[in-house]
Amino acid sequence: MSDIELTVKQLRELVAGPVFGPSDPGFEAETVTFNTTVNARPALVVGALDRQDVAAAVSFAAEQGFAVAVTSTGHGAVPGGMDGALVINTSRITEISVDPQARTVRVGAGNRWGEVVEACAPFGLMPPAGAAPHVGVVGYLLGGGLSPLGRALGFAADHVRALELVTADGTHRRVDADHHEDLFWALRGGGGGLGVVTAVEIGLSPVSSLYGGTVFYPGERAAEVLRAFRDWNDDRLPDAACGSLALQRLPDVPQLPEPLRGRFVVALRYAYPGDPAEGARLLAPMRAAAEVILDTVGELPLTAFGAIHNDPTAPMPVWERGDLLPALPDEAIEALLSAAGPEAADAPFLAELRRLGGALARAPRHANALDVRHAAYTLFAVAPPSGSGLFTTMAPWTLGAGLPTMRGVAPAARTPEAAARLAEIKDAWDPAGLLR
Ligand SMILES: Cc1cc2nc3c(=O)[nH]c(=O)nc-3n(C[C@H](O)[C@H](O)[C@H](O)COP(=O)(O)OP(=O)(O)OC[C@H]3O[C@@H](n4cnc5c(N)ncnc54)[C@H](O)[C@@H]3O)c2cc1C
Repeated sequence: MSDIELTVKQLRELVAGPVFGPSDPGFEAETVTFNTTVNARPALVVGALDRQDVAAAVSFAAEQGFAVAVTSTGHGAVPGGMDGALVINTSRITEISVDPQARTVRVGAGNRWGEVVEACAPFGLMPPAGAAPHVGVVGYLLGGGLSPLGRALGFAADHVRALELVTADGTHRRVDADHHEDLFWALRGGGGGLGVVTAVEIGLSPVSSLYGGTVFYPGERAAEVLRAFRDWNDDRLPDAACGSLALQRLPDVPQLPEPLRGRFVVALRYAYPGDPAEGARLLAPMRAAAEVILDTVGELPLTAFGAIHNDPTAPMPVWERGDLLPALPDEAIEALLSAAGPEAADAPFLAELRRLGGALARAPRHANALDVRHAAYTLFAVAPPSGSGLFTTMAPWTLGAGLPTMRGVAPAARTPEAAARLAEIKDAWDPAGLLR
């Protein structure tokens, strides 16, 4: 028996969930990644069933000298992140319980946003979910989480009431505003690496109706739509009106509506959690900005929130990067068009501006690690694996760093104070650097 087979056998004695070594069937499926350029090469994987499994696996890794990495859906996997590590797959740790009176939901580490929204919607309550129903709750929350309803609701991390996690010493802890305040601050927006989260409690917002969808314009009208989008945003748009604009090079595939297939389009994604008539009134200037190829904006059940962005659901090999823009002057629009517009030779598949501000710019009740809140827009691009020159062209107008969940290969935007505090907290809770 090889060393790794022996290690797998030893860990099987300690946990209830399955343990996979490289020669076991199912090993590769445990660490699939949404970005298929990331090839995970873990030493071994444990499919934890509960917090006891997580605690046993963390202690075992420390004793045996393995680093610990965590995966749930693989949507946020980064190159090298799992290589050589004992990987804890949390996707089997599922639970969703809604407390409609307290307006909170308790969610297990393995749940995805779509399931959580399904559970909350019957009560007219909405969690701060991201654009895609298939993204995992915990990875998104740890990085801050920017919802398509972000301007109305604020960052997702601002709604986290409590987290339960196993820290590097193998102890399961509950962390909230009154318990382990340093971890509570760091886990909301600081990224991962401070423990293996087993459950979270999240505050919910009453949302009686949702008006949303996408307005598509032809790529040739990108310049005027971009300027109209900037002016519309600047024109005292209320916080509840949430918009993003994407320049998209769409494939010619039957899954897309016929008018969009194989075209370069400009997509305005819009969400208004409130009276649909008011939502339509606020959107009117954008509907009139240029001729429209397709307009899907209308009343949506909360559970159809994925239809606002319509993100792809199949894994793909891609390069991703995100950044932040304090403003969007005409020169920045010109630069964006030159590198990502319909005439650009190497335009990314997607270059997306999301309008920030509103509740996203306000400090949360309990401060957290997400402390760069002054930017006006995020810029996020998805390109072929060879990358894109977009961010070099845009450098005069960007901060050079992105939101933790939407930065791709860029660094996370943090003040020096927040970065130093995060490093101190990491040293205090994981002095041996066990957790990736
Ligand atoms: C199609 C798509 C749409 C997206 N839309 C948005 C969006 O609208 N807004 C936004 O902000 N982001 C968005 N994202 C980014 C997404 O939030 C991040 O990729 C996030 O990291 C995914 O989390 P996950 O748990 O699904 O992924 P995973 O790859 O399973 O986890 C990512 C990382 O999170 C950490 N982690 C996960 N679970 C745990 C745990 N239990 N304990 C400790 N650490 C853990 C680990 O470091 C892990 O490497 C999107 C991503 C995709 C692919």
